[in-house]
Amino acid sequence: VVPVLRPFKLASRDFKPEDSKISINGHVFGDNKVIVIAGPCAVESLAQMRETAQAVKAAGAHLMRGGAFKPRTSPYSFQGMGEEGLKIMAQVREETGLHVVTEVMAPDQVELVAKYADVLQIGTRNMQNYALLNAVGQTNMPVLLKRGMMSTIEELLMSAEYIMSNGNHKVILCERGIRTFEKYTRNTLDINAVPVLKELTHLPVVVDPSHATGKWTLVKAASKAAVAAGADGLIIEVHPNPAEAASDGEQSLKPHRFDELMVEVGRVAAAVGRSI
Ligand code: PEP
Ligand code: MN
Repeated sequence: VVPVLRPFKLASRDFKPEDSKISINGHVFGDNKVIVIAGPCAVESLAQMRETAQAVKAAGAHLMRGGAFKPRTSPYSFQGMGEEGLKIMAQVREETGLHVVTEVMAPDQVELVAKYADVLQIGTRNMQNYALLNAVGQTNMPVLLKRGMMSTIEELLMSAEYIMSNGNHKVILCERGIRTFEKYTRNTLDINAVPVLKELTHLPVVVDPSHATGKWTLVKAASKAAVAAGADGLIIEVHPNPAEAASDGEQSLKPHRFDELMVEVGRVAAAVGRSI
């Protein structure tokens, strides 16, 4: 019997003191190596996804990202390519060997997205969509759970608990910035969340410096801070032509900037006894 006094139980360090390791295609979240997920905000075409995946792979990324179902503030904005986008990522996975992280927005989409994806992403807007958390909890696929933009760390852990209490313990937490009074950046990267989460939970912690800052010029600094603070991974938006991106172009790195980022983040990783 392990008495766990915190409201989150399965996610708690009291319940499981050692770090959970979640392996995707041989890349292990929660280990010494910092795992990097990179790719466009949204899949726009086979050519765009292929070019981006090849570039990020060459720079050292371990997995690719790309949204096929996009949660947009406006119903008139590009909503994603849907299943066609998933098929494109599956094809690019065949070509590059990079496994796929992609968002699922609704419980009735889980089966379809799970057919093509390797990691199911729960977006910030859905962190407390309990029906969706239960649905991904009933799969045995790794889940990247993003912190709600107005949610506390404890609320994030309670959402992880929903997934885990359904039997799926493969949860990777993601700090992606929260809303504050500061308007210069899209969100405020809560760097405290990284060591706090490492204290409270055994689950791996990833940082999304792209949504946390909203500006490509800030992504490298935020990435280095995240790794210095102890993040297990990064998820970064990269686009071959950000000016033409269907979503989040302002925060997307061009491939050569992502190259530079990987080199500099590698130095920070080495300085804190990690590799990348
Ligand atoms: C995304 O990853 O493109 C995304 C929509 O992220 P978030 O849910 O953190 O806004
Ligand atoms: Mn995005």
